[in-house]
Amino acid sequence: MGRFTLPRDIYHGKGSLEELKNLKGKKAILVVGGGSMKRQGFLDKAVNYLKEAGMEVELFEGVEPDPSVETVRRGAEAMRKFEPDWIVAMGGGSPIDAAKAMWAFYEYPETTFEDLITPFNFPELRTKAKFAAIPSTSGTATEVTAFSVITDYEKGIKYPLADFNITPDVAIVDSELVEGLPAHQVAYTGMDALTHAIEAYVSTLNCVYTDPLAIKAIEMVFDYLPASFKGNMDARAQMHDAQCLAGMAFSNALLGIVHSMAHKTGAAFSTGHITHGLANAMYLPYVIKYNAKDPVAAKRYAEIARMTGLEGASEKALINSLCKKIDEFNVILGIPATLKEFGIKEDEFKEKIAVISENAVGDACTGSNPRAIDPATMEKLFTCIYYGKEVDF
Ligand code: FE
Repeated sequence: MGRFTLPRDIYHGKGSLEELKNLKGKKAILVVGGGSMKRQGFLDKAVNYLKEAGMEVELFEGVEPDPSVETVRRGAEAMRKFEPDWIVAMGGGSPIDAAKAMWAFYEYPETTFEDLITPFNFPELRTKAKFAAIPSTSGTATEVTAFSVITDYEKGIKYPLADFNITPDVAIVDSELVEGLPAHQVAYTGMDALTHAIEAYVSTLNCVYTDPLAIKAIEMVFDYLPASFKGNMDARAQMHDAQCLAGMAFSNALLGIVHSMAHKTGAAFSTGHITHGLANAMYLPYVIKYNAKDPVAAKRYAEIARMTGLEGASEKALINSLCKKIDEFNVILGIPATLKEFGIKEDEFKEKIAVISENAVGDACTGSNPRAIDPATMEKLFTCIYYGKEVDF
């Protein structure tokens, strides 16, 4: 049996934030991040639309990037006091991720993160509130996914939460909110979305329900990301929809080892954070070459190339075209081709890569990768990415 779960309503297009007027309820808590939505006037707009809907509104502001267990607890506490029947989360991935976890603790005050981290084992939500999500970046697609990541800074652990109970009820994908994004963020989040779609398409859990979403998302990223990066707002609006389509695909088909590797290298080196989307963009062509040694995955990658109009007379030529396309995008977007070029020091890389490789193999995203991998092979793959060597194993 397969399951395919999405928000019941996805409002999209410029100005769709206004749909908040039509939510039916009594009280809404609006969860936001550090202030960019406020500065750009979207917070006031959202509050006013919710009031027009006849609701009493309370704000929970200041959710930090990589939201913490404490923020989640504080938010849940605020919700228990205010008793909203709508949780509305607006911003980059973080406020939405945090609000998803707050929701669980609001409805189940006795639950713990340890209870929640078993995948697809959440208690039944929506006994107290429904959930609307409004993204202000174009990449994570958390507005349509069953995922959230919360960090316990004291224990130094990230809790990846995964359950269809936290798939929002309503997503509002309004491109006006992403018009002010800086170019580098457009680049990284756009490549994150491309990685979501490609990994979902070749995932062992891909299905006929997720395939069309993934393919369309890839096609749109190929068509619109460079122009969006250069500041074309029509292209940026297309990218906002594309990342959402990719999210619908990967929320149901899951991901692969590009994400496993990005998760475990993000904060691993002393030379600085490797932004999620940038890491994905760098690793993606190498992983395609590794996975394509598996005949089923090779066929799927070739399909992506063929269906998005790339050239190639054979399966191998099509896969090469796909990798070349990603390489070209990385050049246009200013993304380095190797970890060395990114600035990771060679001796630190050599010292840490065995442990990182083991952690990456153990990441939640490895299970749905189309080709199995062990820590020693993962280390070889990382070494190829460090020096820019051909993946021939
Ligand atoms: Fe991602």
